[in-house]
Amino acid sequence: MHSSKVTGAIKCKNCYNRFEGNFCNNCGQDADTKRINIHYFLDALQHKYLKLNKGFFFTVYGLFVRPGNTIKDYLDGKRVEYFKPFDLIYCLVVCML
Ligand SMILES: [Zn+2]
Repeated sequence: MHSSKVTGAIKCKNCYNRFEGNFCNNCGQDADTKRINIHYFLDALQHKYLKLNKGFFFTVYGLFVRPGNTIKDYLDGKRVEYFKPFDLIYCLVVCML
């Protein structure tokens, strides 16, 4: 039975709300706030860089090799592997400047 009184085990470091789970139910902060050091920075940079490259190159490659299928896949809802269209346009415009 779910109790109406919430007494979470984790104290949010952002808003001091007590909660359970992976995110604060008051402000949305991640429960796992890792220590900011060089490893944190390199992991974040690598994750962002690899994720960006995978989706970006997959989408650009698909648009050149099989543009109709790529667009149809995206419109049909297969969007996890693809780069978002407006982000793609923005990146291409920025690259041209
Ligand atoms: Zn919070």
